[in-house]
Amino acid sequence: MNLTKVALHSLGCKVNAYETEAMAKMFEEHGYEIVPFREGADIYIINTCTVTNIADRKSRQMLHKAKKMNQDALVVAVGCYAQAFCDTLEKDEAIDIIVGNDRKKDIVAIVEQRVNDVIDINDTGVRHEFEELKIDGMEEKTRTYIKIQDGCNQFCTYCIIPYARGRVRSRELQNILSEVDRLIEKGYQEIVLTGIHLSSYGIDFRNEKGQGEQVRSVSLIDVIKQIGGKKEIKRIRLGSLEPRIITREFLEELKRVEAFCPHFHLSLQSGCDATLKRMNRRYTAEEYKEGCRLIREYFKEAAITTDVIVGFPGETQEEFEECKKLLMEVNFAKMHIFKYSKREGTKAAVMAHQVEDSVKAARSSQLLQLDEKLRRNYMEKFLNRRINVLFEERIEIKGETFFVGHTREYLKVAVKTEENLANRIIQVETRELLNNEIILAIF
Ligand code: SF4
Repeated sequence: MNLTKVALHSLGCKVNAYETEAMAKMFEEHGYEIVPFREGADIYIINTCTVTNIADRKSRQMLHKAKKMNQDALVVAVGCYAQAFCDTLEKDEAIDIIVGNDRKKDIVAIVEQRVNDVIDINDTGVRHEFEELKIDGMEEKTRTYIKIQDGCNQFCTYCIIPYARGRVRSRELQNILSEVDRLIEKGYQEIVLTGIHLSSYGIDFRNEKGQGEQVRSVSLIDVIKQIGGKKEIKRIRLGSLEPRIITREFLEELKRVEAFCPHFHLSLQSGCDATLKRMNRRYTAEEYKEGCRLIREYFKEAAITTDVIVGFPGETQEEFEECKKLLMEVNFAKMHIFKYSKREGTKAAVMAHQVEDSVKAARSSQLLQLDEKLRRNYMEKFLNRRINVLFEERIEIKGETFFVGHTREYLKVAVKTEENLANRIIQVETRELLNNEIILAIF
């Protein structure tokens, strides 16, 4: 068989997007042509997600869509859904190969073995080292992601991730820095550090001490400091953080890293202690608030963003109100609101007092309204001032051409111009809100 065209599709989080990019690069290096999904390919790689039941469904839909595009194509299911629901996929005739997380780095060999009919691999083994994947940058040409950690040891009761991705594995610091150097050569100025549970970076190094060996102590702040030492990197962003990482010591160190962007995505999920407890989140609402207060002590105008789940099993109206009160107190720059959705195989899925869909929808819509208001308030604070923007791409709004980019707080700013500003950091003057997402500025 001569299968040369590969199409890849990523579902779910930034980590998946990063890994899909890395797999594309590996295929390219082996002489394959990467083609858009719609063009028709010989091999389809679907990097699946299982964070919600909807993600499961979308993953299955994409796998079937791939087979429909070309009945003779090899359809490969990779990633979290493939890992967690291997048994279901094995019975699905649309899928030719199932590859678990941790085997993505062998994806080309696995596919080639199958093509040559050497073995029939349904390999979903969870392994215990960090899977070294590398990329040359994402499609966006100014900002790129680096995956520095995989897996999670937290076992929140609603989440399937620890089962799908296994325990915490961190990437060696040297390896991360080599990737940063490669990305610098490509001209990237902004790096986003991602992981499944970023705050756990390095805990596995501490656990792996052998007899007579010294405990290795490398944590997230060391990664940030080392990358911050590279003068070509003008911006470092962090993916989602767990509230407990926010300490005075951590913030003091961050403050010294000039490239660090004051945007903290601190996953909250609920602002009520009783709900947090049922979720097995390991902080209290008070501890969370204290984290936010500390952040603002060090970074006065930091963007603090978060995720909130409404309608978690047992969430009473009082619990919801308590949560809402905290959201208003913290005054978030952006909130991502999710309606709780049952995840088969998790503790929460079998908890008593599941919340009616209509109640979830009403609570979600209240919080979406609140989000809109808080988002606008935050954006308005940045009007009528000179601010640095790293420009990314040209867009059209109502027939007019703008160039858009982001501030260090991750606010989107647009300037009306025909000029190509891509990958340039320019100071502009902010004027008004174009809409709830974009601030209009002039030079
Ligand atoms: S911290 Fe909780 S929600 Fe996040 S990946 Fe781990 S188990 Fe899932």
